[in-house]
Amino acid sequence: MELFELTIKELHEKLKNRDISSVEVTKSYLERIAATDDKINAFVAVTEKEALRAAEDADKKIAAGNMDILTGIPVALKDIFLTKGIRTTCSSKMLENFIPPYNATAWEKLEKKGAILTGKLNMDEFAMGSSCETSAFGPTKNPWNLNCVPGGSSGGSAAAVAAQQTVATLGTDTGGSIRQPASLCGCIGLKPTYGRVSRYGVIAFASSLDQVGPMANSVEDCAIILGIVAGFDQKDSTSVDIPVPDYEKSLVKDMKGVKIGLPKEYFIDGLDSAVQKAMNEAIAVYKGLGAEFKEVSLPHTDYAAATYYLIATAEASSNLARYDGVRFSHRSGEAESLTEMYCKSRAEGFGEEVKRRIMLGTYALSSGYYDAYYLKAQKVRTLIMQDFIKNFENVDILLTPVTPTPAFKIGEKSNDPLQMYLSDIFTIPVNLAGTCGISVPAGLSRDGLPIGLQLIGKPFGEESIIRGAYAFEQATEWHKGRARL
Ligand code: GLN
Repeated sequence: MELFELTIKELHEKLKNRDISSVEVTKSYLERIAATDDKINAFVAVTEKEALRAAEDADKKIAAGNMDILTGIPVALKDIFLTKGIRTTCSSKMLENFIPPYNATAWEKLEKKGAILTGKLNMDEFAMGSSCETSAFGPTKNPWNLNCVPGGSSGGSAAAVAAQQTVATLGTDTGGSIRQPASLCGCIGLKPTYGRVSRYGVIAFASSLDQVGPMANSVEDCAIILGIVAGFDQKDSTSVDIPVPDYEKSLVKDMKGVKIGLPKEYFIDGLDSAVQKAMNEAIAVYKGLGAEFKEVSLPHTDYAAATYYLIATAEASSNLARYDGVRFSHRSGEAESLTEMYCKSRAEGFGEEVKRRIMLGTYALSSGYYDAYYLKAQKVRTLIMQDFIKNFENVDILLTPVTPTPAFKIGEKSNDPLQMYLSDIFTIPVNLAGTCGISVPAGLSRDGLPIGLQLIGKPFGEESIIRGAYAFEQATEWHKGRARL
């Protein structure tokens, strides 16, 4: 077995027993990246020198008996997390030369536990997209089929995990960006409850929806990473000050007494037949593990995509106003006046999809339209939230597909934004409700592409979805499938 095939716990044990060194593990990953990334383009930058230096330091710590759970273990990060002294681009030309002066809290927490950074991962520009095609650095490809998208926006993260270029990573999820690519690449991705993980130092897209979460090839690794990054942060007023449970205690194999709701609005006619089949089989697996099922209803589901695309674009138009070419970000060399400098810098720095979102959001917030669009969307968001809260009085978790179809072809939806937006219809409501969800491998399509199932939990109910995901993972073989590269 290669070192890059091991889990966090396996790597930790071997490092602790001095069977392997951190330099060896780090080299194993760097070689894996070098051997595979020409094909999939998951990395925007590989921080080889820094990683090897950090690995040498880690080996010294380990030799001195000074070890934490991630000491000497390399990870890569979505290029939306600020990394001090290391270029962070959000896959945008706008931030092509941006070197952050400080770290994102989530990364700082991993680093404190000993993690080593191997590089920054590709994504849709400013996290806007579902296919990783809007990156200024070219699309990432799905390791299972290089003609297909890996999903997005954390497409580089999902592809890197699936291709075993990193044991785990962090993504962000505003409307599905952790769960949808995890599903399309056959790995595990967990979007925590809004407020569970600090967003400090994470480049903002839509601030009332964005959340940070782990992606990995095992539920256990996701639970470990979540346990490290979760918790209150003084630097993020939206992070919530409630204790962080020991998520590893939720790694139990049965589902006795657990009530699972099946929202009828998520099992629709347009669902791909392989996805439907995977859901039916998953339900049978859960029944065998002792779970009880109940059909439930989330009546406002139909309005979720429209609501999301009003709120997310409105917030994005405000958040992205800061990229003016003055304090940082791309500055046009062509301008002759200040106004022209703003206009040209933004016109040159942002890609098509980002511009579309800024225009939609600016329109939705403009006077005369605010009440009709943004305010209305906020009201519908409350109804969607209440749908979930009501259901959680009767069931512990909900089971749904993650996406209506498996991975689609590169280019297939890039000229049709509405079709692209619809690939998130089952993930978006979870962000609007501010609650948590996880994607777990649950099948393969006829063409051998991964299919994920989604478990949705109550706010701050990450333990219940981790349990559900782990029990399923242990009872099935789907998570063991690997893309052949
Ligand atoms: N695909 C969705 C969008 O384009 C969600 C993106 C995300 O979660 N960052 O907005």
